[in-house]
Amino acid sequence: MLLEALGVEVQLFEARGRPGGRLHCVDEGGGAIYEAGGEWIDADHYRVLNLLRHFDMEPTTPGEWPQKLIFRGKECTEATIWNDALEDDLRVEAAAREMCRDLTSPPWSNTHAADLDGRKLGDFIREHTQSERGLWWVNSKYRSDEGDDLDNIGLLGWLSGYLHYLDRDGDVMSAYRIPGGSRQLCEKILGSLNAEPQFQKVLRRVRQDSSGVTLMFDDGQAQVDHVILTLPPPALERVVFEPALSPRRRCAVEACRMSRATKICWEFDHPWWHDLDWGGSLMCDGPIQQTWDGSIGTAPILTAYICGDEAAKWLALGDPVRAGIYELSLMFPDASKHFVRGWAHNWLTDPFSPGAFSHLAPGYVLEHMEHISPPEGRIHFAGEHTALWSGFIEGALESAERVVSEFTKR
Ligand SMILES: Cc1cc2nc3c(=O)[nH]c(=O)nc-3n(C[C@H](O)[C@H](O)[C@H](O)COP(=O)(O)OP(=O)(O)OC[C@H]3O[C@@H](n4cnc5c(N)ncnc54)[C@H](O)[C@@H]3O)c2cc1C
Repeated sequence: MLLEALGVEVQLFEARGRPGGRLHCVDEGGGAIYEAGGEWIDADHYRVLNLLRHFDMEPTTPGEWPQKLIFRGKECTEATIWNDALEDDLRVEAAAREMCRDLTSPPWSNTHAADLDGRKLGDFIREHTQSERGLWWVNSKYRSDEGDDLDNIGLLGWLSGYLHYLDRDGDVMSAYRIPGGSRQLCEKILGSLNAEPQFQKVLRRVRQDSSGVTLMFDDGQAQVDHVILTLPPPALERVVFEPALSPRRRCAVEACRMSRATKICWEFDHPWWHDLDWGGSLMCDGPIQQTWDGSIGTAPILTAYICGDEAAKWLALGDPVRAGIYELSLMFPDASKHFVRGWAHNWLTDPFSPGAFSHLAPGYVLEHMEHISPPEGRIHFAGEHTALWSGFIEGALESAERVVSEFTKR
């Protein structure tokens, strides 16, 4: 959209048979529609919110029901959270704020903070919590954002993201969703373009010289002046470049880690959670980790969002959907009574996005982060992993703006 607005002639190539990539709104028929990939928009994700409003799509907000918390069989809500958990949460927040005082953006400019870059977020949280419940709660909250276990996340990278949150008023995380699902947004974007996307075009090889770039697919090739590659890092690693990309870029792409997050979505014949005066939003210490009401169509859908080692364990099960219903019904017996069918989405082995979204692993920020986004000759790099809002839909849009500014500076 941004390039066409500048009068650039654009061609679009996509490996899958559908648009959207990790935005994947699935319609299973019979009113069962849900988001298998990106779903939530924070209140300060202005690019996403503005894009929606550009298409007259007013972002939707979840109902006012508070999130339920279950730890060791005891229950409360986020609004009435146990004191020890709340105190630990505030302690972690205060320590993070204090550490952010010495940090600047972009994250890799903090060369004085090598010790933070080498540290794990998991250790930081263990150091600043005192109760088991507090440790569980703070861990669960940030694991959900990061999409993986917190021992895999670097402290400097996390604090650099935390900088974004310092000016926020109240709880503006996961504030909105795309009305009608992300498929509607993708259709609106495609409908606004002159370019016709070409699907089932798996890029294998990229050759550049002074006259242009040749893109080689399984079934033919295309000659272009410049290319913008939005492939997630593990997919990019599989493409052959002639001449080879710089060693610094190759190291950055290889070191960029993808979070292991997955969703299991269950359809029910009745939204039984409303009978319990509950909106379906849960954080628990059991293997389901987190749920929310994921219904977009007429059928009631509950979505479980599971991250890290636990996600890998669920996806290794023969039937994660039924195993999940069993786990759910241990907490909520009505779940099995009303269960109709369900689906598990394995992003971990998806060939075009192996992993859910990028995270900043220990040591990544200072050694690699700045090398993943600059262009090399006629080849430009975009996608959430190249953005400061890495991991988010907002980051994908941020990277689009950066890439377009690379063109206008030429
Ligand atoms: C389970 C899950 C939950 C998430 N939750 C949220 C959330 O709540 N909020 C949020 O902001 N973000 C969330 N995200 C992350 C968000 O979806 C992504 O950050 C964003 O959609 C990434 O956009 P992108 O354009 O960078 O990459 P992609 O959408 O992955 O686009 C890259 C495209 O490249 C294509 N491709 C790959 N290899 C090739 C090849 N060889 N040849 C041609 N094409 C190729 C892919 O098919 C894909 O279409 C979630 C993601 C997942 C998976």
